[in-house]
Amino acid sequence: MLTIPGLCWLCQMPLACAKWGFCSCCAKALPTPPPCCPRCGLPCAWTQSPCGRCLQKPPAWDALVFVTDYCPPLNLLIHRFKFNATVALAQALARLMLISVLDARRHSQRQKPDCIVSVPLHSRRAWRRGFNQSALLASHLSHWLQCEYLPQGIRRIRATHTQHQLNARMRRNNLKGAFRVDFPVAGRHIIIVDDVVTTGSTVAEIARLLKKQGAATIQVWCLCRTL
Ligand SMILES: [Zn+2]
Ligand SMILES: [Zn+2]
Repeated sequence: MLTIPGLCWLCQMPLACAKWGFCSCCAKALPTPPPCCPRCGLPCAWTQSPCGRCLQKPPAWDALVFVTDYCPPLNLLIHRFKFNATVALAQALARLMLISVLDARRHSQRQKPDCIVSVPLHSRRAWRRGFNQSALLASHLSHWLQCEYLPQGIRRIRATHTQHQLNARMRRNNLKGAFRVDFPVAGRHIIIVDDVVTTGSTVAEIARLLKKQGAATIQVWCLCRTL
């Protein structure tokens, strides 16, 4: 795949606006997620109110907005974005998130956010990769939405094991004490930005800390929601 600026990341057609990253045809052709619960983002028949899982055991966040499931072509682009240090993709992917966020806002009463934080990498991992993908997405969104971004708002104070092999309870234990909140939270409407939310245990742990410190509402914004 070529990476010439000014061409669509998917079909390589020249773009009317180079910054957009995708032509309107490719953006429109992205797979749309199945009807899903506005709270947890998982498939459910009724999209206007929380699903049965959320009624029984509500997540620590109040709403979740995502672009698509973790499927082609977005999963391939996210992989390039994360592992090939293709920072130029950040703006194009953030724009897809912006479209989904504005769309969600049109369809439901969402609280206007006060500030945005991103899921931090541990400094050793950030140093190895050279950047934090969630931070790049968050900083573009904050600029476009004119909403304060706090890059150091959530700090990872302890390295954690990779989560892939762990079950839900092990994931929760693995994340205990991994983060610290470093900004005034009480009464604020806060957005947590992550690239991909799978089991949601990381954003749940951060949301739990924020709620404990008195956050008014918490939304999670991500590129892909999947299980
Ligand atoms: Zn295209
Ligand atoms: Zn739900």
